[in-house]
Amino acid sequence: MMIVMKPAATEQEVDAGVERVRAVGARSVLDVAGRKVGGEHFAMIAGPCTVESREQTLTTAHTVAAAGATMFRGGAYKPRTSPYAFQGLGQEGLRLLAEAKEQTGLPIVTEVMDARDLGQVLEVADVLQVGARNMQNYTLLSEIGRSGCPVLIKRGLSSTLEELLMAAEYVLKEGNESVMLCERGIRTFETSYRFTLDLMAVPVLKEMTHLPVIVDPSHAAGRRDLVAPMSLAAAAAGADGLIVEVHPDPDEAICDAAQQLVAAEFPAYLERVHAAAAVAGKAVSLTPDLLASAR
Ligand code: PEP
Ligand code: MN
Repeated sequence: MMIVMKPAATEQEVDAGVERVRAVGARSVLDVAGRKVGGEHFAMIAGPCTVESREQTLTTAHTVAAAGATMFRGGAYKPRTSPYAFQGLGQEGLRLLAEAKEQTGLPIVTEVMDARDLGQVLEVADVLQVGARNMQNYTLLSEIGRSGCPVLIKRGLSSTLEELLMAAEYVLKEGNESVMLCERGIRTFETSYRFTLDLMAVPVLKEMTHLPVIVDPSHAAGRRDLVAPMSLAAAAAGADGLIVEVHPDPDEAICDAAQQLVAAEFPAYLERVHAAAAVAGKAVSLTPDLLASAR
């Protein structure tokens, strides 16, 4: 894996507490299975909240791949507020994600909730997702650091940017430099929408750290109609990518039905994201196939 970034801290610097996450010089550009993220490379990560069935997963994967998404997302292990709610398909979900990757070539972004599942998730994942509720699970972060697999760390519901950086530092400290940060909405007094998307975090994180910053408007909004405007705002603000939920028939979705984009509308949505990313001087990282046909 090729990573262009500031030189890693030496052993002595780490011992002396020199944090690797801080911005000094060049921005990190990650390489995830051939897709670049960071710098001028914008990642469009799209897919369902949850892997529900073979048909739902493969239909969504083919739709977002054909439209030009950079990576495919989908949860096999789901952090649900109620322990009685559907918890995800687990291993069977991972198998379906592997099939989606094989058929579309899209790298897979999927959540690992428990270090005990890491081995099997690593067999499929190109990017491990650490959910908002696990952002301060330091043993999980350290294990992921030792795995060397790229990781997307979501900001906790009530976490400061400094706390998010220290979560990333747990991974970097183990020698894993492929870390993306993700703003996904924080809890405020406002109850008119699910969470408050903190877009100020985008330019401010870029001042604080060299790591790429991804925005998840789906979980912040909780409502489909807010996803496009907040995606455009995030891209124009200089985000290095978006992670959004897409479903062939959202009203039938087992989880997060109200916020998932309708798959048939994804191509038009992505066209608008291209324009907003261009405003910030970025281009959506395409799959090698599409890149070849665009030449
Ligand atoms: C998700 O992306 O599937 C998810 C559960 O998000 P978050 O951890 O941000 O709530
Ligand atoms: Mn979801």
